[in-house]
Amino acid sequence: MDRLANDELMMAEALAEAAGALEAGVFPVGAVLAQGTQVLGRARKTMASNHLNHAEMNLFHQVFIGDYRFARADGLTLYTTLEPCVMCFGTLLHLPITRLVFAMEDAYGGCASVILTGAPPRHQHRPVEIAAGVRRSEARALFAAFLDTTSESFWREGGASPFQATVRGEPG
Ligand SMILES: [Zn+2]
Repeated sequence: MDRLANDELMMAEALAEAAGALEAGVFPVGAVLAQGTQVLGRARKTMASNHLNHAEMNLFHQVFIGDYRFARADGLTLYTTLEPCVMCFGTLLHLPITRLVFAMEDAYGGCASVILTGAPPRHQHRPVEIAAGVRRSEARALFAAFLDTTSESFWREGGASPFQATVRGEPG
């Protein structure tokens, strides 16, 4: 299978996680960690009111347990339905993950384009290959469904407006 086809399959798995979060009334982000065509773990955002339980963090806690099980040479790819935030992207840099694939960009809090020129040496020599927009429309549809149905006042009052504009297809 070529890499693009594998990316589409893995993102479908991440989207299934996101759909599960949506069913539970939670902001629908799903994530999968893969080594080539093998899924190492899958997770979703699990609570509305906790700042730490992003899908990616839940996934990292699931996969990176015990001794150092993986190295950068293992070719790990993180698939996530939304561009990672500063916490999740920072943790990704800290982990032996060499590729990031996400579905929809996050104009509000996405950090995949952060320039690391001023970062300390450790983070300047751990490049991560990034691919954006894989199954973007499906991820966006889940976010739209969430915004249409959530009772959380943050969202109903227009919170994270650049993100909401992306979901609604409005300019910036
Ligand atoms: Zn995050």
